[in-house]
Amino acid sequence: MAGVAAAGAALAACSTDDKTTTSATAPQTSIAHRPEITTPAEARAELRRGNERYLKGQMVHPGADEQRRVEVALGQEPFAAILGCADSRVPVEILTDQGFGDLFVVRVAGNIVGKSELGSLQFAVEHLHVPLIAVVGHAKCGAVDAAVGVAGGGAMPGGAVDDIVNHILPAARKAKGEQGGDLLTRAIKDNAIQSRDQLLKDPLIAGEVKKGTLEVVAAYYTLEDGRFVVLDN
Ligand SMILES: [Zn+2]
Repeated sequence: MAGVAAAGAALAACSTDDKTTTSATAPQTSIAHRPEITTPAEARAELRRGNERYLKGQMVHPGADEQRRVEVALGQEPFAAILGCADSRVPVEILTDQGFGDLFVVRVAGNIVGKSELGSLQFAVEHLHVPLIAVVGHAKCGAVDAAVGVAGGGAMPGGAVDDIVNHILPAARKAKGEQGGDLLTRAIKDNAIQSRDQLLKDPLIAGEVKKGTLEVVAAYYTLEDGRFVVLDN
């Protein structure tokens, strides 16, 4: 398909490991705007390539136009689900240069796994068959900072925010007992890992992970440099 070739050309221009055969002169179109992504490794690679495009100022805005919008009105096949923070400084689609129908994004303060977030991600796994869930924690997260304050003896913020803080508290307390770097950064990373591990305990998600059709990763995003780092521990 011409669209695949065009999208491949756009990706190849910004990537050293893109395997698609491309034509540099193919017209830009957003229909089937990239080769199909069906595996966890392909999904991770596309998120990484998109972030590189963003960092290099070479965004191609795949699937961000009217044609793609109308196309995905017929149905969605996102290649990844994201559990990110509601923080206005972490717009995942922009940071990974993705468009309509590409990412199933759940954003909530502190990227916590509450019942609604888990249900949303179960839907993405069971019905949309996403091969990847990425939990994205970010630098200077206010929700985690609030939990760190409470872990240090401070008062609960009050209102419904307490529910968010309660989700984060175990990670904040864990971070207090660890060494290296600053406490808030440790807590943000521990909180992303905590959310990842909570998702991995869900039977539906765990079953797909066991089959190799799904991967769940935790990542840390730095506001100043715009990069994501996958957390391995
Ligand atoms: Zn945050």
